[in-house]
Amino acid sequence: MAHEVERPTYEIVGPIQRYDERDNVFAREALLPGSPEEREYHSRHPKLAKIDRRLADHFFEGAQKSTGEEQQAPSDALPASTFRAVSSLALPDAVDGPVSPRKVRVAPVEMARNIKSLARSLGAVQVRIGPLNPAWIYTNRGVWPFFDDYRANPPAFDGVPQGYQGLNYGDPIEIDHRFAISMAFPQNPRLIATSPSKTSSFEIGRVYAASALASVELGNYIRALGYPARAHHLRNYGVLLVPVAVDSGLGELGRCGYLMSKELGANFRLACVTTDLPLATEKPVDLGVQDFCEKCLKCAKNCPSAAIPTRGKVVVRGVRRWQIDAEKCLLYWGSQRAACAICQVVCPWSKPPTLFHRSIAELAVRFPAARRLLIQADDWVYGAGYKRASVPDWAGSRESMAES
Ligand code: SF4
Ligand code: SF4
Repeated sequence: MAHEVERPTYEIVGPIQRYDERDNVFAREALLPGSPEEREYHSRHPKLAKIDRRLADHFFEGAQKSTGEEQQAPSDALPASTFRAVSSLALPDAVDGPVSPRKVRVAPVEMARNIKSLARSLGAVQVRIGPLNPAWIYTNRGVWPFFDDYRANPPAFDGVPQGYQGLNYGDPIEIDHRFAISMAFPQNPRLIATSPSKTSSFEIGRVYAASALASVELGNYIRALGYPARAHHLRNYGVLLVPVAVDSGLGELGRCGYLMSKELGANFRLACVTTDLPLATEKPVDLGVQDFCEKCLKCAKNCPSAAIPTRGKVVVRGVRRWQIDAEKCLLYWGSQRAACAICQVVCPWSKPPTLFHRSIAELAVRFPAARRLLIQADDWVYGAGYKRASVPDWAGSRESMAES
């Protein structure tokens, strides 16, 4: 396979420390002030209390809007149409479940081919299978829904759904699967280029919903074959999707914090299924993204919240890589009342998969000396600065008027 290498392009500089999902900004913004979970978390991380309160304020205002309490225009309802669908796929018996007692005998190479074809039939545009490194499994559960006293449950669920009261914030996460199937689902460039808007939020949610359904379906299939499998998607992760996907060769981690692939650039969302189904695995790839991002900086220059580093990599839990400031990013989303994807849009790799753009990507991968010129050419052709696209008419009159 082209561009495959023995080691992933992130640099391991010490023992990798597993990540606690409770440290994720999305977990922290949903903590109910004064709840036992919030008090416990901030007793361990007192310096985060102030910023988390700001994140939570944004979250609460956003939730009010999505329940319709403050809805002002049809476009305000768009994100709920897709994001709520993801939540309903997050229940424990959707992402996991009983395994058929009748085990089908499989040959790993042939089975890997079948699984990849099935994943594509379910909507994935890129699929890769890698080993599951236990270092990428979260230590403890921290993100919604399903917890008592957790304000992220509504509007997706009215309290904790019947039968799921046994899941607790902070529960240890244990997954002993050997393999991970990583899947990439593209976002519509036309809609995502309206970012930040209700329309781009809708599109992000639409792709997350499609990827969640595909991962749940693929997990169901594997368990019906007689092997354990667990889907991982936006509303119920057990593993860090980006390094898992890097290990499988789906792409590389870019400066913007997203996975970058040769085919889709940064304009896609990930989902994954971990399993013990015997599968032939693939190797990581070196597309030259580390060198390209070193020279490029376009996402960092266009990020409205200055969340993307303009300087070098840092060591994060044993791995040297670029690290975005997730708090700044999320606060910007809150200020806009919409998800931002400007960094995904402006990235020179995020181009439609025409023959021309595929050839340019191939050039960027194979000829390091051409990269500076390609970066410059991207600015000449598409502009150095982000130009927000107009919102399509169907997305709602008020948003159209406000942004036209
Ligand atoms: S999503 Fe927007 S705010 Fe966040 S890092 Fe990307 S460009 Fe910056
Ligand atoms: S915009 Fe440039 S620096 Fe940012 S992720 Fe894309 S290639 Fe890397």
